[in-house]
Amino acid sequence: MNSIVIIGGGHAAAQLCAGLAEAGQGARVHLVCEEACEPYHRPPLSKAFLKSAEEATQPHKAADWYREAGITLHLGDAAVAIDREARNVTLRSGAVLPWEALVLATGTRARRIAALSHELVNVASLRAADEAHRLRARLAEAQRVTVLGGGFIGLEVAATAKALGKEVQVIESAPRLLGRAVSPELSDHVLATHRAAGINIVLGATADDFEVEGVRLVSLRVNGARQPVDLLLLGIGAVPETALAQAAGIECADGIVVDEHMQTSAAGVLAVGDCTRFPDRRAGRALRLESVQNANDQARTAVATLLGTARAHDVVPWFWSDQGGMRLQMVGLVPAEGTPGHVTVRRAGPKPDAFSLFHYVDGQLACVESVNAPVDHMMSRKLLDAGRSPDPAAVADASVPLKNHLA
Ligand SMILES: Cc1cc2nc3c(=O)[nH]c(=O)nc-3n(C[C@H](O)[C@H](O)[C@H](O)COP(=O)(O)OP(=O)(O)OC[C@H]3O[C@@H](n4cnc5c(N)ncnc54)[C@H](O)[C@@H]3O)c2cc1C
Repeated sequence: MNSIVIIGGGHAAAQLCAGLAEAGQGARVHLVCEEACEPYHRPPLSKAFLKSAEEATQPHKAADWYREAGITLHLGDAAVAIDREARNVTLRSGAVLPWEALVLATGTRARRIAALSHELVNVASLRAADEAHRLRARLAEAQRVTVLGGGFIGLEVAATAKALGKEVQVIESAPRLLGRAVSPELSDHVLATHRAAGINIVLGATADDFEVEGVRLVSLRVNGARQPVDLLLLGIGAVPETALAQAAGIECADGIVVDEHMQTSAAGVLAVGDCTRFPDRRAGRALRLESVQNANDQARTAVATLLGTARAHDVVPWFWSDQGGMRLQMVGLVPAEGTPGHVTVRRAGPKPDAFSLFHYVDGQLACVESVNAPVDHMMSRKLLDAGRSPDPAAVADASVPLKNHLA
């Protein structure tokens, strides 16, 4: 292969570069990213980065590493058009890069509310480093922080803002927190913990009627009652960045559709990471996941495809989220509420605020959610990777190490 172009500079793109460099194949690799810096770790942006002006972003690799690996960086430049016939991509700068293989790693962008323009100085969203810098500066000035959305990013920022001594409110339209990703039992625990820490959480709430004066949002209505706004964070989810693929006629369906080799509907074009919808053999349906693990593992699969050593993507997903004193770790997919044959087993953790929830469906282990129990999380990953389903009663006995169930 002569030339590979990667569009996007996030976790998936960084892992692709690392995998291609490690394989030592001879292709010219170009990485195109609209952000002006080398790929960096996103998870700290809602956590340590916001706490101190001293915290810098954490690059995956230094600029020198890319040079030495023979990877050409096009930073601060976006890909604006893909020509599938001519096999090239045009950048905003006017540069045209030919490709033999093209990988789309365009991630997601934060969902916005049409009534709240990007010009409003006290309305923030959080996806990229520039947004994190802005949010950090606004947090330093704000006394009160309103978070719209009780998902992972909203709750992480809420916990961080609380640790900074702010008055924090979370407004969630659903009847429970993290409703799409975790079990009701874990939602309840997260709710109780944040409330005990002094965060005001309103569930089943509608926020509307945004009142703007100049470049500031001054108030909004929550369940019909008007309240002032000091700083508003939009934590209402992310939208897959598929515009480029769609314009090129590549199949998309809430994500760029790929097969188990990360191949899109267009010859020579792969896609990886948050922007993809992929067939998950274990779930028996197509999924779109937003996690570092998914970005890294899909990139590994794509590298195998590019090197001609294709292997079908087949991994158990896992995720973590740090919220104040809680480290949440999940492996597998939590069964939908009401799934027939679903049984949940609780296992005590090493400390009073630690535990794991083992979810079985028809006797098969499907998912484990852990709170402050990193060893149980690591062992659960091994159990699920190995396809083991230890007896639920044995798992509930915390005096027996989980590793005994692997033997
Ligand atoms: C604040 C925050 C905290 C998070 N915390 C966690 C966590 O604790 N645990 C966890 O597992 N996951 C976490 N995540 C999710 C994780 O960071 C993402 O799943 C991961 O970054 C996905 O990687 P990606 O490469 O697919 O996309 P991204 O990292 O989003 O990268 C996509 C890149 O493509 C660029 N791009 C898009 N379109 C173009 C174009 N046309 N031309 C050029 N460049 C383009 C974008 O600018 C961006 O740099 C967090 C995310 C955020 C934002």
